[in-house]
Amino acid sequence: MKVTAHHGKIQDKPPSFYASFNCIISGLDNVEARRWLNATVCGLVELDDDGDPDPSTIVPIVDGGTEGFSGQARVILPRITSCFECSLDAFPPQKSFPLCTVAETPRLPEHCIAYAFTLQWPREFPDRKLDTDSPTDMKWVYEQALIRAEKFNISGVTYMLTMGVVKNIIPAVASTNAIVAAACVNETVKLLTFCSQTLNTYMMYMGATGVYSHTFVYERKEDCPVCTSTVRKMTVTKNTTLNELMQRLRDGDLRLKSPSVVAAGSGTLYMQKPPSLEKATRHNLDRALSALIEDGEELTVTDPIFPNLNLSLSICFEQ
Ligand SMILES: [Zn+2]
Repeated sequence: MKVTAHHGKIQDKPPSFYASFNCIISGLDNVEARRWLNATVCGLVELDDDGDPDPSTIVPIVDGGTEGFSGQARVILPRITSCFECSLDAFPPQKSFPLCTVAETPRLPEHCIAYAFTLQWPREFPDRKLDTDSPTDMKWVYEQALIRAEKFNISGVTYMLTMGVVKNIIPAVASTNAIVAAACVNETVKLLTFCSQTLNTYMMYMGATGVYSHTFVYERKEDCPVCTSTVRKMTVTKNTTLNELMQRLRDGDLRLKSPSVVAAGSGTLYMQKPPSLEKATRHNLDRALSALIEDGEELTVTDPIFPNLNLSLSICFEQ
């Protein structure tokens, strides 16, 4: 067997790179990277005139992940089974603490730690950034968090937790990684040799409560923005501005990052890039959608989180 290593971001490789494999095993460490890879590989699938996928363009993804004593493996056959985006609801947005809670009404040890490194550190050392790799700096944060926790009668602040909150570390357990890696390889062998039926579609391993695992089918989401060609309907009021629509695209269930919007009949509404186009379309942000587009007009939305994919939205005005 020959192994070729590539060093760099997954986003640096073009779609043709991913199209050149028979199967992709992913061991990524965050939701955003999984969304990107999933959308890229789903985008490789070519559809015929009836909208059916061309099997020769389907590259299966075997995705593994672990978090402490828990692990999961899943098989994604783009446009056939559910994709990562279909089950995005199962992955809540990365946890952050509301600053008002941190500053005024801490309840959890995490709040005290967040207070120490986001508010106290810059106050105490305005000219120096916190070095999360420095034991001296981390000890300072830990001690400040402890003082604050005592003041609010909160228990549970430890040095380990401080490291975890500041660096966002989830401990890796070697045995969990080994089990999930084995499950991924097992699925890949089945996919490549057709020797047995592959996992349908999700396996969970829970090592904290014994040696327990189970499988279940993640259903496809009917209006998945990545693996279906559905036109999503969105209802807005006549006063809703383009900026408010963009906000909904970011904070709603689509969880986009920086959307650009083009209307079918009315042309470009807003482009994030290049700077000249951004500047030329910026004035539209504060305008009401009803002044920019017709009722029921279709918008094409692009976003860096979904490379090579266009999302279709049909905008209807509330009567
Ligand atoms: Zn999907």
